[in-house]
Amino acid sequence: MAAPMKFLRNTLQCVRKSDLRKTFLREKIPVVSVLPSRCLHLQEYQSKKLMADHGISVQKFVVCHTAEEAKHATDNLKVDEYVIKAQILAGGRGKGTFSNGFKGGVHLTKDPSKVEDLVDNMLGFNLVTKQTTEKGVKVNKVMVAEALDIDKETYFAIVMDRSYSGPVLIGSKHGGMDIEEMSEKDPDSIIKEPVDIMKGIHPDQALSMSKKLGFTGVHLQEAADQIVKLYNMFIKVDATQIEINPFGETPGGKVVCFDAKISFDDNAQFRQKQIFDMDDTSETDPREVEAARHNLNYIGLEGSIGCLVNGAGLAMATMDIIKLHKGEPANFLDIGGGVSEQQVFDAFQILSADAHVKAILVNVFGGIVNCVTVANGIIKAAKKINLKLPLVVRVDGNNADSAREILEASDLHIAVAKDLDDAARLAVAKSSY
Ligand code: GDP
Ligand code: MG
Repeated sequence: MAAPMKFLRNTLQCVRKSDLRKTFLREKIPVVSVLPSRCLHLQEYQSKKLMADHGISVQKFVVCHTAEEAKHATDNLKVDEYVIKAQILAGGRGKGTFSNGFKGGVHLTKDPSKVEDLVDNMLGFNLVTKQTTEKGVKVNKVMVAEALDIDKETYFAIVMDRSYSGPVLIGSKHGGMDIEEMSEKDPDSIIKEPVDIMKGIHPDQALSMSKKLGFTGVHLQEAADQIVKLYNMFIKVDATQIEINPFGETPGGKVVCFDAKISFDDNAQFRQKQIFDMDDTSETDPREVEAARHNLNYIGLEGSIGCLVNGAGLAMATMDIIKLHKGEPANFLDIGGGVSEQQVFDAFQILSADAHVKAILVNVFGGIVNCVTVANGIIKAAKKINLKLPLVVRVDGNNADSAREILEASDLHIAVAKDLDDAARLAVAKSSY
């Protein structure tokens, strides 16, 4: 457990589930140690549109879905230099590589005739960065923007930080693509400045951060103004994180947000409808999207046992015990505390539609939930869906004995496990036929 806990502590509190999955798969850390609530992230172009609407300085840009559109983009922008940027929900694009071998998810060119080719090399290919899995993420959109000369690259972010019970400004003089290495080598160079959420940001606080980032002359006040605007937007849109890297200055005296990553608090969905309507689910596991529609928590993995559990802790234990028996979970569907018949039905439907799933393991602990209700729900749902996959059920807790009798008496060939160990052993055996 040490590794995931450390990972979590070092991670911002609000992490998209698919990001966690990517990290866990890469680091080979058990996924189910956390089943966090989803956290909306926007693509860079969406974030920048939002920022422009709040008076924050970003370059003008056009989003292209085809190389053909890139031709018109240069006609529309008509600038001295172009920056072409693959749009994926992961950082490190500049140093990334595409599945076709093309290097770099961020390119600069002064020649408009080269833009189409650059876009063509990105669209439809997977971009692998240090923040993605080895497979990378398919690029469906490319931003073509006005490039500006950068004299200085700093790092600026605002995060909602539990340890400060509120928003914290984070800055570093060493912005740009090597920020991770720089922050490791020189952790003292990371500046943190908490803001009293009740009072809001004070202009002096913004100015002090601007100074610490190394801005001087005309840029000093300019950067402070941008910081105030970013903070006010952070609060207004219910963000949990805004990261600008690079937060840079141009020779012309401007301070510009060259890159942007914004995450939002899902609890604010009801009052941020326009923002949540922008949710681009194309990078999310479609099974996760489908599960979310039914209020089920889903984490997709790469094994063959579909797991239906109630509660994150039980999911974690189920994962461990399956692995102990040399099996691999295909996924986890957490149906939470209620366990209604409809939820079991929806869950079975999602699990059996997944071709990787060779057996289903239901692991439910009845606390408030009566196991008999669960058993009846399982039988009805399995019949209604005409479930063909082998089904192993372990129920324990409230009224478990009667529940097991009901399951055993059904004509559905349900393997009723004695305990969790037995359940994992049976599921592994049935999934490897
Ligand atoms: P990331 O690699 O995913 O973080 O993508 P960024 O948008 O941060 O771009 C990577 C790097 O490209 C930045 O750190 C900059 O050095 C460079 N870059 C991005 N936009 C511009 C631009 O308009 N002008 C110049 N000169 N460099 C840029
Ligand atoms: Mg960046």
